[in-house]
Amino acid sequence: MVARIIPVETFDLVIFGGTGDLARRKILPSLFHRMVVGQMPTDARIIGAARGKMTRKAFQEFVEESLEEFIDESERKPEDVKTFVGQLDYVALDALGEGGWEELGKKLRKDVVRAFYLSVGPSLFGGIAERLKKTGLATPKSRIVVEKPLGHDLESAQKLNAQLSASFKENQIYRIDHYLGKETVQNLMALRFANALFEPLWSAQHVDHVQITVAENIGVEGRGGYYDKSGAMRDMIQNHLMQLLCLTAMEPPARFEPNAVRDEKLKVIRALDPVPAADTVRGQYRANGEDGSYLDHVENPDSTTESYVAIKTQISNWRWAGTPFYLRTGKKLRGRLSEIAIIFKDVPHSIFPEVDEKRGNALIIRLQPDEGITLRMTIKDPGPGGMRLKEVPLDMTFADALGPNAEVADAYERLIMDVIRGNQTLFMRGDEVEAAWEWTDAILAAWEKGGKKPQAYDAGGSGPEDSLALMHRDGRRWREIAS
Ligand code: NAP
Repeated sequence: MVARIIPVETFDLVIFGGTGDLARRKILPSLFHRMVVGQMPTDARIIGAARGKMTRKAFQEFVEESLEEFIDESERKPEDVKTFVGQLDYVALDALGEGGWEELGKKLRKDVVRAFYLSVGPSLFGGIAERLKKTGLATPKSRIVVEKPLGHDLESAQKLNAQLSASFKENQIYRIDHYLGKETVQNLMALRFANALFEPLWSAQHVDHVQITVAENIGVEGRGGYYDKSGAMRDMIQNHLMQLLCLTAMEPPARFEPNAVRDEKLKVIRALDPVPAADTVRGQYRANGEDGSYLDHVENPDSTTESYVAIKTQISNWRWAGTPFYLRTGKKLRGRLSEIAIIFKDVPHSIFPEVDEKRGNALIIRLQPDEGITLRMTIKDPGPGGMRLKEVPLDMTFADALGPNAEVADAYERLIMDVIRGNQTLFMRGDEVEAAWEWTDAILAAWEKGGKKPQAYDAGGSGPEDSLALMHRDGRRWREIAS
C-alpha cells in the first residue's frame, strides 16, 4: 500500500542555521525524501543562511556530505542527489547584523510561499523575525518556523510570542513539536475519532488511569551544556509529554482543523489541577558500572538539574475527574520507549473467582520503538484443567500491518510539508505554549522552594525509588521499560 502523494506548491525555504546539526540531521534529509517521492517540486528552492562564509557550490557539497551521512545509500540515488543539490543556495548572514539581507532578498521569488525556518538558538528568534519584517522579506505568503526551546518559563515564552507576533500573524507562525508529526500521534486522533469503539470508554467511568512515558536510554552526552540549564521538566514535560496528554484527554473537536483541535488541547491544559510537590519526583542518574553519571557530563559538579521527572496529575473536568494521568520521562533509563498507556478499569464483578489477579484491559499507543498500537486482552489459557486466564496482546505494528511499502515518513517531513501547505493543525499555538508554561512554572517554583535535591537513580535502571512509590501508594505500578 503506497500512500498517495499530493505535491505541494512551489516554495522558497530559508534555513537560518542551514549548516547546523538540526539542518544536517533532520531538515535537509527530510526535504530530500520529499523530493524523491515527488512531493517537493523540483523548482522549489532551499537557501541556507549562517554566518560562515561559503559559496553556493561549497554549501551544495556540504549538504551532499550530510545526505551521505544521514541517508542510507539504498535511498540515495546519485541523480536524485544531483537534482536536490541543484535546488540549494546559500547566503552568509549574521542573524543579528545588517549585512546579507539584501542578498537574501534577491534570491527570493515574488508571490511564492516563503518559509523561514529558524534552526538557530532561541536568542536569535526575535532578532530574525524583526529583520524579516524591517527588510520587507516577510510577505503575506510567508511563514516562520521555530522549535523548542520556546521560552524557559512563562515570562520568556510571552516575550518570545510578542517578538514573533510583532512581525508575523499567528497563522504565519509554526511552532514545531516534532512529537506531533509522528504517525502514531496522529493515529491517536484517528483511533479516538474515527472508531466508534473507544470513545464511549474514554472517560473516568471506564479508565482507571493513564501512563505517558518517554524513556531514553542515552544520557546527556554532548548536550550537557544546554541540558543542565533546562532539565527534564522544561526539555520534555512542558512540551512533548504535555502535547501527548492533551491529545489523549481532549474532547472531540467539531472539525479536524487547526483552531478547532488547538482550542480543545488548550482546554485540557487549563483544566489541569495544580500539582502538589508530593505528587512529583525528580531524579538524576548516577554512575552504574561502565555508565557514567549525569554529573560527568555537565560543568557544574554540584548540579541539581533533574534528568528524570515523574508526575501524577489530574484533569478537573467532567470527563476525567478522578482518573489520574501519570507522566514520566528520563534519560539513561533501561530502554528507549515512548508510549501512552490507557489502563481500563477491571470488570465490576468476576465470574472466575479462582483468578485473583486483577487484569484491566490496556490500550497502548507506541511512538517508539516500532510505532504501533497494542490492546491488552484477557483470554482463556488454552488447554484442559480448568478455567485459567491469560493476558495476550492484540498487536498492530504499523510497519507489519500496512505492508513493507507503507510510507512512515519522518515527523519532520510531514511537518515541513504542512508548513508549505499552510496547515497548522500539528503545530502549537502561542496560547497553548503559554498555558503549558504556567502549569510547569508552578511545579518548578515549588521545587525551588522545597530545595530538595533530585533523587539519585542508577544509570540503565528504571528510575528513582520515589517514582515507583508514587504509583505503589495508589495501588498501581508503572509499565515495564524493557531493555
Ligand atoms: P548548531 O549545530 O549549533 O547550529 C547552529 C546554526 O546556526 C549553525 O548553522 C550556525 O552557523 C548558525 N548560527 C549561529 N549563530 C548565528 C547567527 N548569529 N546568525 C546566523 N546564523 C547563526 O545548533 P542545532 O543543534 O542545529 O540547533 C539549532 C536550534 O534547534 C537550537 O535552538 C536547538 O535548541 C534547536 N533544536 C535542535 C535539535 C537537534 O536535534 N539538533 C532538536 C530540537 C531543537 P554559523 O556559526 O556559521 O553562523
